Amino acid sequence: MVKDADSVSVTEPADSSKIQPSVGVLSDKKFLVDRLLHALERMSRHNRGVAVFFVYINSANMTLGADQHQSMALTPTVAIVERLRSFLRFSDTIASWGPNKFVILCEDTTSIDQVRSIAKRLMESLSIPLLLEGVPYKADVLVGAATTDNRLCMPNELLQDAEEALQTAMDREPGVCELVEESISTKNRSTIRIEQELEGAISAKQLELLYQPIIDLKTGKTCGVEALVRWNHPIHGTVLPDEFLPIAEKSGAIFSIGSWVLNQVCQQSHNWSLGKAEKLKSAAKAKTQKPTTKSTTKTGLDNATANNTATGKGKWFQLSINLSERQIKADDLFETVKNVVTSGQKGLPEEIVLCLETKEAALAGSTPEMLEQLEELGVILAVDDFGVGWSSLSYLERFPVKIIKMDNSLISSLGNSVEDNIVANGVVSLAHSLGLKVIGEGVERESQAVALLEMGAEAAQGYYFARPERSAAVSNFITQTFKIKDPN
Ligand code: C2E
Ligand code: MG
Ligand code: MG
Repeated sequence: MVKDADSVSVTEPADSSKIQPSVGVLSDKKFLVDRLLHALERMSRHNRGVAVFFVYINSANMTLGADQHQSMALTPTVAIVERLRSFLRFSDTIASWGPNKFVILCEDTTSIDQVRSIAKRLMESLSIPLLLEGVPYKADVLVGAATTDNRLCMPNELLQDAEEALQTAMDREPGVCELVEESISTKNRSTIRIEQELEGAISAKQLELLYQPIIDLKTGKTCGVEALVRWNHPIHGTVLPDEFLPIAEKSGAIFSIGSWVLNQVCQQSHNWSLGKAEKLKSAAKAKTQKPTTKSTTKTGLDNATANNTATGKGKWFQLSINLSERQIKADDLFETVKNVVTSGQKGLPEEIVLCLETKEAALAGSTPEMLEQLEELGVILAVDDFGVGWSSLSYLERFPVKIIKMDNSLISSLGNSVEDNIVANGVVSLAHSLGLKVIGEGVERESQAVALLEMGAEAAQGYYFARPERSAAVSNFITQTFKIKDPN
Protein backbone atom coordinates (compact mmCIF):
# COMPACT_ATOMS: atom_id res chain seq x y z
CA MET A 1 0.00 0.00 0.00
CA VAL A 2 1.32 3.44 -0.86
CA LYS A 3 1.22 5.92 1.96
CA ASP A 4 1.59 9.64 1.64
CA ALA A 5 4.85 11.06 2.97
CA ASP A 6 2.85 13.06 5.44
CA SER A 7 1.38 9.93 6.95
CA VAL A 8 4.79 8.57 7.90
CA SER A 9 4.69 8.83 11.69
CA VAL A 10 6.80 11.70 12.89
CA THR A 11 7.61 13.07 16.28
CA GLU A 12 9.86 16.06 16.32
CA PRO A 13 13.16 15.52 18.09
CA ALA A 14 12.99 16.50 21.75
CA ASP A 15 15.68 19.10 21.26
CA SER A 16 14.65 20.45 17.84
CA SER A 17 13.83 23.85 19.35
CA LYS A 18 17.42 24.08 20.43
CA ILE A 19 18.76 23.85 16.88
CA GLN A 20 21.07 26.78 16.45
CA PRO A 21 20.40 29.32 13.70
CA SER A 22 23.93 28.61 12.55
CA VAL A 23 22.70 25.15 11.72
CA GLY A 24 20.17 26.52 9.21
CA VAL A 25 21.32 23.50 7.25
CA LEU A 26 18.74 21.30 9.03
CA SER A 27 15.57 21.43 6.93
CA ASP A 28 12.10 20.38 7.86
CA LYS A 29 10.17 17.51 6.35
CA LYS A 30 8.10 19.59 3.94
CA PHE A 31 11.19 21.25 2.50
CA LEU A 32 12.84 17.87 1.94
CA VAL A 33 9.76 16.41 0.22
CA ASP A 34 9.58 19.47 -2.07
CA ARG A 35 13.27 19.13 -2.95
CA LEU A 36 12.81 15.43 -3.62
CA LEU A 37 9.82 16.06 -5.89
CA HIS A 38 11.81 18.64 -7.82
CA ALA A 39 14.82 16.28 -8.07
CA LEU A 40 12.62 13.49 -9.46
CA GLU A 41 11.00 15.83 -11.96
CA ARG A 42 14.28 17.02 -13.45
CA MET A 43 15.95 13.60 -13.36
CA SER A 44 14.99 12.54 -16.89
CA ARG A 45 16.82 15.53 -18.30
CA HIS A 46 20.04 14.78 -16.47
CA ASN A 47 20.17 11.02 -16.70
CA ARG A 48 21.11 10.80 -13.02
CA GLY A 49 19.56 9.31 -9.92
CA VAL A 50 18.45 10.45 -6.47
CA ALA A 51 19.03 8.74 -3.14
CA VAL A 52 17.45 9.19 0.28
CA PHE A 53 19.05 8.01 3.50
CA PHE A 54 17.24 7.49 6.79
CA VAL A 55 19.87 7.93 9.51
CA TYR A 56 18.99 6.69 12.98
CA ILE A 57 21.15 7.66 15.94
CA ASN A 58 20.83 5.13 18.73
CA SER A 59 19.90 7.24 21.76
CA ALA A 60 20.47 4.38 24.24
CA ASN A 61 24.16 5.13 23.98
CA MET A 62 23.84 8.84 24.62
CA THR A 63 26.05 9.83 27.49
CA LEU A 64 24.25 13.10 28.20
CA GLY A 65 20.80 13.50 29.77
CA ALA A 66 17.99 15.74 28.54
CA ASP A 67 18.54 18.41 31.22
CA GLN A 68 22.13 18.82 30.27
CA HIS A 69 21.10 19.25 26.58
CA GLN A 70 18.88 22.20 27.44
CA SER A 71 21.73 24.11 28.98
CA MET A 72 24.23 23.47 26.24
CA ALA A 73 24.94 25.73 23.33
CA LEU A 74 25.86 22.74 21.22
CA THR A 75 23.16 20.08 21.49
CA PRO A 76 23.71 16.51 20.25
CA THR A 77 21.39 17.23 17.31
CA VAL A 78 23.37 20.25 16.26
CA ALA A 79 26.63 18.38 16.63
CA ILE A 80 25.35 15.42 14.65
CA VAL A 81 23.98 17.59 11.85
CA GLU A 82 27.22 19.53 11.65
CA ARG A 83 29.19 16.30 11.51
CA LEU A 84 26.95 14.78 8.81
CA ARG A 85 27.06 18.00 6.85
CA SER A 86 30.86 18.00 6.83
CA PHE A 87 30.73 14.67 4.98
CA LEU A 88 28.12 15.77 2.42
CA ARG A 89 27.97 18.09 -0.55
CA PHE A 90 26.57 21.59 -0.10
CA SER A 91 23.62 20.74 -2.34
CA ASP A 92 22.55 17.74 -0.23
CA THR A 93 19.59 18.28 2.09
CA ILE A 94 19.35 17.12 5.71
CA ALA A 95 15.98 17.14 7.47
CA SER A 96 14.91 16.07 10.93
CA TRP A 97 12.42 13.20 10.80
CA GLY A 98 11.52 12.29 14.36
CA PRO A 99 13.43 11.44 17.53
CA ASN A 100 17.03 10.67 16.64
CA LYS A 101 16.12 10.34 12.97
CA PHE A 102 17.37 12.35 10.04
CA VAL A 103 16.67 12.09 6.35
CA ILE A 104 19.32 13.04 3.84
CA LEU A 105 18.60 13.68 0.18
CA CYS A 106 21.42 13.39 -2.33
CA GLU A 107 20.63 14.55 -5.85
CA ASP A 108 22.37 13.76 -9.13
CA THR A 109 23.79 10.45 -7.99
CA THR A 110 25.60 8.60 -10.72
CA SER A 111 25.61 4.95 -9.67
CA ILE A 112 24.54 2.49 -7.03
CA ASP A 113 28.18 2.22 -5.91
CA GLN A 114 28.25 5.93 -5.29
CA VAL A 115 25.09 5.62 -3.13
CA ARG A 116 26.71 2.78 -1.16
CA SER A 117 29.82 4.84 -0.58
CA ILE A 118 27.76 7.84 0.62
CA ALA A 119 26.01 5.54 3.14
CA LYS A 120 29.40 4.24 4.29
CA ARG A 121 30.70 7.80 4.66
CA LEU A 122 27.66 8.78 6.72
CA MET A 123 28.24 5.92 9.14
CA GLU A 124 31.96 6.62 9.33
CA SER A 125 31.30 10.29 9.98
CA LEU A 126 29.56 9.44 13.25
CA SER A 127 31.94 6.68 14.29
CA ILE A 128 34.36 9.40 15.37
CA PRO A 129 33.12 10.59 18.83
CA LEU A 130 31.55 14.05 18.97
CA LEU A 131 32.88 16.46 21.55
CA LEU A 132 30.12 18.28 23.43
CA GLU A 133 31.65 20.81 25.82
CA GLY A 134 34.69 18.58 26.14
CA VAL A 135 32.65 15.43 26.81
CA PRO A 136 33.03 12.71 24.16
CA TYR A 137 29.77 11.61 22.72
CA LYS A 138 29.68 8.33 20.80
CA ALA A 139 26.64 7.57 18.65
CA ASP A 140 25.63 4.23 17.17
CA VAL A 141 24.30 4.76 13.68
CA LEU A 142 21.96 2.81 11.43
CA VAL A 143 21.23 3.82 7.86
CA GLY A 144 18.42 2.79 5.52
CA ALA A 145 18.74 4.01 1.97
CA ALA A 146 16.74 3.93 -1.24
CA THR A 147 17.70 5.14 -4.65
CA THR A 148 16.02 5.46 -8.01
CA ASP A 149 16.68 6.68 -11.51
CA ASN A 150 13.00 6.43 -12.36
CA ARG A 151 11.42 9.84 -12.89
CA LEU A 152 7.96 8.32 -12.36
CA CYS A 153 8.73 7.52 -8.73
CA MET A 154 6.91 9.71 -6.15
CA PRO A 155 8.65 11.19 -3.06
CA ASN A 156 6.57 9.18 -0.59
CA GLU A 157 7.45 5.94 -2.40
CA LEU A 158 11.19 6.48 -2.19
CA LEU A 159 10.95 7.69 1.42
CA GLN A 160 8.96 4.62 2.40
CA ASP A 161 11.49 2.33 0.73
CA ALA A 162 14.28 4.01 2.69
CA GLU A 163 12.35 3.91 5.96
CA GLU A 164 11.63 0.21 5.51
CA ALA A 165 15.29 -0.33 4.76
CA LEU A 166 16.04 1.38 8.07
CA GLN A 167 13.61 -0.96 9.86
CA THR A 168 15.50 -3.91 8.38
CA ALA A 169 18.83 -2.39 9.40
CA MET A 170 17.49 -1.93 12.96
CA ASP A 171 17.19 -5.70 13.28
CA ARG A 172 20.91 -5.92 12.71
CA GLU A 173 24.09 -4.55 14.23
CA PRO A 174 24.71 -0.81 14.51
CA GLY A 175 26.85 0.54 11.71
CA VAL A 176 24.78 -1.26 9.10
CA CYS A 177 23.28 0.20 5.94
CA GLU A 178 20.40 -1.48 4.22
CA LEU A 179 19.89 -0.32 0.66
CA VAL A 180 16.82 -0.62 -1.54
CA GLU A 181 17.81 -0.23 -5.15
CA GLU A 182 14.80 0.29 -7.36
CA SER A 183 16.40 -1.12 -10.47
CA ILE A 184 16.99 -4.48 -8.77
CA SER A 185 13.77 -4.70 -6.82
CA THR A 186 11.24 -6.75 -8.75
CA LYS A 187 8.07 -4.98 -7.66
CA ASN A 188 8.63 -1.60 -6.17
CA ARG A 189 6.03 0.87 -5.08
CA SER A 190 6.19 3.16 -8.08
CA THR A 191 6.01 0.25 -10.53
CA ILE A 192 2.90 -1.07 -8.79
CA ARG A 193 1.33 2.39 -8.85
CA ILE A 194 2.21 2.93 -12.53
CA GLU A 195 0.77 -0.50 -13.36
CA GLN A 196 -2.48 0.45 -11.63
CA GLU A 197 -2.59 3.89 -13.22
CA LEU A 198 -1.94 2.41 -16.67
CA GLU A 199 -4.99 0.20 -16.28
CA GLY A 200 -7.14 3.31 -16.11
CA ALA A 201 -5.12 5.46 -18.55
CA ILE A 202 -7.08 4.41 -21.62
CA SER A 203 -10.52 5.01 -20.14
CA ALA A 204 -9.26 8.29 -18.65
CA LYS A 205 -8.24 9.31 -22.21
CA GLN A 206 -4.66 9.91 -21.11
CA LEU A 207 -3.03 8.06 -24.00
CA GLU A 208 -2.35 9.85 -27.23
CA LEU A 209 -0.81 8.93 -30.57
CA LEU A 210 1.69 11.12 -32.36
CA TYR A 211 2.72 10.53 -35.96
CA GLN A 212 6.15 11.03 -37.51
CA PRO A 213 6.37 11.20 -41.30
CA ILE A 214 8.47 8.71 -43.26
CA ILE A 215 10.02 10.50 -46.20
CA ASP A 216 10.68 8.99 -49.61
CA LEU A 217 14.29 10.07 -50.15
CA LYS A 218 13.96 10.28 -53.94
CA THR A 219 10.95 12.60 -54.00
CA GLY A 220 10.99 14.29 -50.59
CA LYS A 221 7.33 13.29 -50.20
CA THR A 222 5.74 11.62 -47.20
CA CYS A 223 5.18 7.98 -48.06
CA GLY A 224 3.96 6.97 -44.63
CA VAL A 225 3.84 7.73 -40.92
CA GLU A 226 4.87 5.91 -37.76
CA ALA A 227 2.43 6.01 -34.83
CA LEU A 228 4.14 6.67 -31.49
CA VAL A 229 2.24 6.51 -28.22
CA ARG A 230 2.44 9.10 -25.40
CA TRP A 231 0.94 9.05 -21.91
CA ASN A 232 -0.30 12.43 -20.72
CA HIS A 233 -0.02 11.74 -17.01
CA PRO A 234 -1.83 14.09 -14.58
CA ILE A 235 1.26 14.41 -12.33
CA HIS A 236 4.29 13.45 -14.39
CA GLY A 237 3.27 15.27 -17.60
CA THR A 238 4.14 13.67 -20.92
CA VAL A 239 5.51 10.20 -20.29
CA LEU A 240 7.48 8.64 -23.13
CA PRO A 241 6.89 5.05 -24.28
CA ASP A 242 10.33 3.91 -23.10
CA GLU A 243 9.30 4.96 -19.59
CA PHE A 244 5.97 3.14 -19.35
CA LEU A 245 5.85 0.43 -22.02
CA PRO A 246 8.36 -1.84 -20.22
CA ILE A 247 5.98 -1.78 -17.21
CA ALA A 248 2.99 -2.40 -19.49
CA GLU A 249 4.90 -5.24 -21.11
CA LYS A 250 5.47 -6.92 -17.74
CA SER A 251 1.95 -6.34 -16.39
CA GLY A 252 0.19 -7.33 -19.61
CA ALA A 253 -1.36 -3.86 -20.06
CA ILE A 254 0.53 -3.77 -23.37
CA PHE A 255 -2.31 -5.80 -24.93
CA SER A 256 -5.00 -3.27 -24.14
CA ILE A 257 -2.64 -0.48 -25.19
CA GLY A 258 -1.98 -2.34 -28.46
CA SER A 259 -5.71 -2.71 -29.17
CA TRP A 260 -6.24 0.94 -28.37
CA VAL A 261 -3.42 1.91 -30.80
CA LEU A 262 -4.98 -0.13 -33.59
CA ASN A 263 -8.43 1.35 -33.02
CA GLN A 264 -7.02 4.83 -32.77
CA VAL A 265 -5.02 4.64 -36.02
CA CYS A 266 -8.13 3.32 -37.77
CA GLN A 267 -10.21 6.24 -36.57
CA GLN A 268 -7.61 8.94 -37.10
CA SER A 269 -6.35 7.80 -40.49
CA HIS A 270 -9.79 8.51 -41.99
CA ASN A 271 -9.17 12.22 -41.34
CA TRP A 272 -5.99 12.41 -43.41
CA SER A 273 -7.67 12.86 -46.83
CA LEU A 274 -5.42 10.20 -48.35
CA GLY A 275 -7.72 9.72 -51.36
CA LYS A 276 -7.51 13.40 -52.23
CA ALA A 277 -3.74 13.45 -51.74
CA GLU A 278 -3.37 10.37 -53.91
CA LYS A 279 -5.20 12.02 -56.81
CA LEU A 280 -3.10 15.19 -56.52
CA LYS A 281 0.06 13.12 -56.33
CA SER A 282 -0.79 10.99 -59.36
CA ALA A 283 -1.73 14.06 -61.42
CA ALA A 284 1.53 15.85 -60.54
CA LYS A 285 3.64 12.81 -61.27
CA ALA A 286 1.88 12.04 -64.56
CA LYS A 287 3.07 15.45 -65.75
CA THR A 288 6.68 15.10 -64.64
CA GLN A 289 7.61 11.40 -64.80
CA LYS A 290 7.54 8.52 -67.20
CA PRO A 291 5.86 5.33 -65.92
CA THR A 292 8.27 3.06 -64.16
CA THR A 293 8.76 -0.64 -64.76
CA LYS A 294 10.04 -1.39 -61.22
CA SER A 295 9.41 -4.68 -59.41
CA THR A 296 5.91 -5.68 -58.25
CA THR A 297 4.79 -3.40 -55.47
CA LYS A 298 4.56 -4.91 -52.02
CA THR A 299 5.18 -2.18 -49.49
CA GLY A 300 4.15 1.41 -48.95
CA LEU A 301 7.70 2.34 -49.85
CA ASP A 302 7.53 0.40 -53.12
CA ASN A 303 4.35 2.19 -54.00
CA ALA A 304 5.68 5.56 -53.06
CA THR A 305 9.00 5.15 -54.83
CA ALA A 306 7.59 3.32 -57.84
CA ASN A 307 4.80 5.85 -58.35
CA ASN A 308 2.47 3.02 -59.17
CA THR A 309 -0.70 3.10 -57.17
CA ALA A 310 -2.47 0.77 -59.62
CA THR A 311 -0.30 -2.27 -58.99
CA GLY A 312 -0.39 -1.58 -55.26
CA LYS A 313 -4.19 -1.57 -55.38
CA GLY A 314 -4.07 2.11 -54.40
CA LYS A 315 -2.11 1.32 -51.24
CA TRP A 316 0.52 4.02 -51.45
CA PHE A 317 0.66 5.14 -47.83
CA GLN A 318 2.45 3.16 -45.14
CA LEU A 319 1.12 3.31 -41.59
CA SER A 320 3.58 1.82 -39.14
CA ILE A 321 2.72 0.71 -35.64
CA ASN A 322 5.16 -0.76 -33.14
CA LEU A 323 4.74 -4.16 -31.56
CA SER A 324 6.55 -5.24 -28.42
CA GLU A 325 7.89 -8.73 -27.81
CA ARG A 326 4.73 -9.96 -26.09
CA GLN A 327 2.52 -8.45 -28.76
CA ILE A 328 4.34 -10.05 -31.66
CA LYS A 329 4.22 -13.44 -29.93
CA ALA A 330 0.53 -13.19 -28.97
CA ASP A 331 -1.66 -16.03 -30.25
CA ASP A 332 -4.44 -13.66 -31.26
CA LEU A 333 -2.24 -11.20 -33.17
CA PHE A 334 -3.41 -12.51 -36.53
CA GLU A 335 -7.11 -12.28 -35.64
CA THR A 336 -6.74 -8.82 -34.11
CA VAL A 337 -4.90 -7.41 -37.13
CA LYS A 338 -7.20 -9.19 -39.57
CA ASN A 339 -10.24 -7.56 -37.98
CA VAL A 340 -8.68 -4.19 -38.54
CA VAL A 341 -7.51 -4.60 -42.10
CA THR A 342 -10.62 -6.36 -43.33
CA SER A 343 -13.35 -4.41 -41.57
CA GLY A 344 -14.05 -2.07 -44.49
CA GLN A 345 -15.25 1.41 -43.56
CA LYS A 346 -14.45 0.91 -39.90
CA GLY A 347 -10.97 -0.40 -40.65
CA LEU A 348 -8.08 1.33 -42.34
CA PRO A 349 -8.60 3.50 -45.45
CA GLU A 350 -7.87 1.59 -48.66
CA GLU A 351 -4.80 3.72 -49.44
CA ILE A 352 -3.02 2.41 -46.35
CA VAL A 353 -0.67 -0.52 -46.09
CA LEU A 354 -0.22 -1.50 -42.46
CA CYS A 355 3.36 -2.07 -41.35
CA LEU A 356 4.20 -3.83 -38.09
CA GLU A 357 7.53 -2.75 -36.64
CA THR A 358 9.27 -4.93 -34.14
CA LYS A 359 12.79 -5.26 -32.79
CA GLU A 360 15.21 -7.93 -33.92
CA ALA A 361 15.27 -9.85 -30.63
CA ALA A 362 11.46 -9.87 -30.36
CA LEU A 363 11.12 -11.19 -33.88
CA ALA A 364 13.48 -14.06 -33.24
CA GLY A 365 11.08 -15.42 -30.58
CA SER A 366 8.07 -15.23 -32.87
CA THR A 367 6.66 -17.77 -35.34
CA PRO A 368 7.25 -17.26 -39.08
CA GLU A 369 3.95 -19.01 -39.98
CA MET A 370 1.73 -16.47 -38.26
CA LEU A 371 3.67 -13.59 -39.77
CA GLU A 372 3.36 -15.20 -43.20
CA GLN A 373 -0.43 -15.29 -42.71
CA LEU A 374 -0.31 -11.60 -41.92
CA GLU A 375 1.69 -11.00 -45.08
CA GLU A 376 -1.03 -12.73 -47.06
CA LEU A 377 -3.44 -10.17 -45.67
CA GLY A 378 -1.24 -7.43 -47.15
CA VAL A 379 0.35 -6.45 -43.84
CA ILE A 380 4.10 -5.88 -43.98
CA LEU A 381 6.80 -6.43 -41.40
CA ALA A 382 9.71 -4.12 -40.54
CA VAL A 383 12.68 -4.81 -38.27
CA ASP A 384 13.03 -1.81 -35.97
CA ASP A 385 16.31 -0.49 -34.55
CA PHE A 386 18.30 -2.66 -36.94
CA GLY A 387 22.01 -2.77 -36.27
CA VAL A 388 22.08 -2.84 -32.47
CA GLY A 389 22.55 -5.73 -30.14
CA TRP A 390 21.61 -8.77 -32.23
CA SER A 391 24.12 -10.54 -34.36
CA SER A 392 22.24 -13.43 -35.98
CA LEU A 393 20.81 -12.35 -39.30
CA SER A 394 19.20 -15.67 -40.18
CA TYR A 395 15.79 -14.41 -39.09
CA LEU A 396 15.82 -12.00 -42.04
CA GLU A 397 15.45 -15.00 -44.30
CA ARG A 398 13.16 -17.00 -42.02
CA PHE A 399 10.60 -14.23 -41.50
CA PRO A 400 8.67 -12.32 -44.15
CA VAL A 401 10.50 -9.08 -43.38
CA LYS A 402 10.12 -6.34 -46.00
CA ILE A 403 11.79 -3.35 -44.39
CA ILE A 404 14.84 -2.69 -42.26
CA LYS A 405 14.77 0.40 -40.08
CA MET A 406 18.38 1.39 -39.56
CA ASP A 407 18.94 2.41 -35.95
CA ASN A 408 19.72 6.00 -34.90
CA SER A 409 23.13 4.91 -33.65
CA LEU A 410 24.21 4.04 -37.21
CA ILE A 411 22.73 7.26 -38.58
CA SER A 412 24.28 9.65 -36.05
CA SER A 413 27.78 9.49 -37.48
CA LEU A 414 26.64 9.50 -41.11
CA GLY A 415 27.86 12.16 -43.46
CA ASN A 416 31.03 12.95 -41.47
CA SER A 417 33.47 10.83 -43.44
CA VAL A 418 33.64 7.90 -45.85
CA GLU A 419 34.71 5.58 -42.97
CA ASP A 420 31.68 6.58 -40.90
CA ASN A 421 29.40 5.52 -43.73
CA ILE A 422 30.88 2.01 -44.10
CA VAL A 423 28.60 0.19 -41.63
CA ALA A 424 25.46 1.96 -42.86
CA ASN A 425 26.46 1.23 -46.44
CA GLY A 426 26.90 -2.41 -45.51
CA VAL A 427 23.41 -2.52 -44.00
CA VAL A 428 21.86 -1.03 -47.15
CA SER A 429 23.74 -3.49 -49.39
CA LEU A 430 22.73 -6.44 -47.18
CA ALA A 431 19.10 -5.33 -47.18
CA HIS A 432 19.01 -4.86 -50.94
CA SER A 433 20.69 -8.20 -51.58
CA LEU A 434 17.83 -9.78 -49.57
CA GLY A 435 15.23 -7.73 -51.45
CA LEU A 436 14.44 -5.51 -48.46
CA LYS A 437 13.88 -1.74 -48.30
CA VAL A 438 15.71 0.53 -45.88
CA ILE A 439 14.38 3.38 -43.74
CA GLY A 440 16.98 5.44 -41.86
CA GLU A 441 15.76 6.44 -38.38
CA GLY A 442 16.75 9.48 -36.35
CA VAL A 443 17.90 11.68 -39.23
CA GLU A 444 18.71 15.03 -37.65
CA ARG A 445 20.96 16.65 -40.27
CA GLU A 446 20.81 17.24 -43.99
CA SER A 447 24.18 15.48 -44.45
CA GLN A 448 22.69 12.29 -42.96
CA ALA A 449 19.71 12.40 -45.32
CA VAL A 450 22.03 12.98 -48.29
CA ALA A 451 24.35 10.13 -47.24
CA LEU A 452 21.34 7.79 -46.97
CA LEU A 453 20.07 8.85 -50.37
CA GLU A 454 23.48 8.35 -51.94
CA MET A 455 23.87 4.86 -50.49
CA GLY A 456 20.48 3.92 -51.93
CA ALA A 457 18.25 3.83 -48.82
CA GLU A 458 14.64 4.26 -49.83
CA ALA A 459 13.31 6.41 -47.00
CA ALA A 460 14.13 8.23 -43.80
CA GLN A 461 12.51 9.76 -40.76
CA GLY A 462 13.82 12.07 -38.08
CA TYR A 463 13.75 15.53 -36.57
CA TYR A 464 15.47 16.93 -39.68
CA PHE A 465 12.16 16.41 -41.49
CA ALA A 466 9.63 16.57 -38.67
CA ARG A 467 9.11 15.61 -35.06
CA PRO A 468 6.24 13.29 -34.15
CA GLU A 469 3.06 15.37 -34.17
CA ARG A 470 -0.66 15.01 -33.54
CA SER A 471 -2.95 13.38 -36.08
CA ALA A 472 -4.10 16.76 -37.42
CA ALA A 473 -0.57 17.41 -38.75
CA VAL A 474 -0.53 14.32 -40.99
CA SER A 475 -2.52 15.99 -43.79
CA ASN A 476 0.13 18.76 -43.86
CA PHE A 477 2.96 16.22 -43.97
CA ILE A 478 1.33 14.62 -47.00
CA THR A 479 1.05 17.80 -49.03
CA GLN A 480 4.56 19.01 -48.15
CA THR A 481 7.77 18.31 -50.10
CA PHE A 482 10.72 17.89 -47.74
CA LYS A 483 14.13 19.12 -48.84
CA ILE A 484 16.70 16.32 -49.04
CA LYS A 485 19.52 18.10 -50.77
CA ASP A 486 20.14 21.79 -51.11
CA PRO A 487 20.11 22.42 -54.87
CA ASN A 488 23.10 24.76 -54.44
P1 C2E B 1 11.03 3.46 -32.40
O1 C2E B 1 9.93 2.67 -32.97
O2 C2E B 1 12.41 3.16 -32.86
O3 C2E B 1 10.65 4.97 -32.66
C1 C2E B 1 11.58 5.97 -32.96
C2 C2E B 1 11.87 6.80 -31.76
O4 C2E B 1 12.86 7.78 -32.11
C3 C2E B 1 10.67 7.60 -31.28
O5 C2E B 1 10.81 7.74 -29.88
C4 C2E B 1 10.87 8.95 -31.96
O6 C2E B 1 10.21 10.01 -31.29
C5 C2E B 1 12.36 9.08 -31.87
N1 C2E B 1 12.91 9.93 -32.93
C6 C2E B 1 12.38 10.22 -34.13
N2 C2E B 1 13.21 11.02 -34.84
C7 C2E B 1 14.29 11.23 -34.07
C8 C2E B 1 15.50 11.99 -34.24
O7 C2E B 1 15.76 12.61 -35.26
N3 C2E B 1 16.39 11.96 -33.21
C9 C2E B 1 16.15 11.27 -32.07
N4 C2E B 1 17.07 11.31 -31.11
N5 C2E B 1 15.02 10.54 -31.86
C10 C2E B 1 14.11 10.53 -32.86
P2 C2E B 1 9.58 7.51 -28.91
O8 C2E B 1 8.34 8.07 -29.50
O9 C2E B 1 10.01 7.95 -27.58
O10 C2E B 1 9.41 5.93 -28.94
C11 C2E B 1 10.37 5.10 -28.39
C12 C2E B 1 10.07 3.67 -28.67
O11 C2E B 1 8.88 3.23 -28.01
C13 C2E B 1 9.80 3.41 -30.14
O12 C2E B 1 11.03 3.33 -30.81
C14 C2E B 1 9.05 2.10 -30.08
O13 C2E B 1 9.92 1.01 -29.98
C15 C2E B 1 8.30 2.22 -28.77
N6 C2E B 1 6.89 2.58 -29.05
C16 C2E B 1 6.36 3.79 -29.36
N7 C2E B 1 5.03 3.71 -29.52
C17 C2E B 1 4.70 2.40 -29.33
C18 C2E B 1 3.45 1.67 -29.34
O14 C2E B 1 2.36 2.19 -29.62
N8 C2E B 1 3.54 0.32 -29.08
C19 C2E B 1 4.72 -0.29 -28.80
N9 C2E B 1 4.72 -1.60 -28.55
N10 C2E B 1 5.89 0.35 -28.78
C20 C2E B 1 5.88 1.68 -29.04
MG1 MG C 1 9.41 1.95 -34.61
MG1 MG D 1 13.52 2.48 -34.03
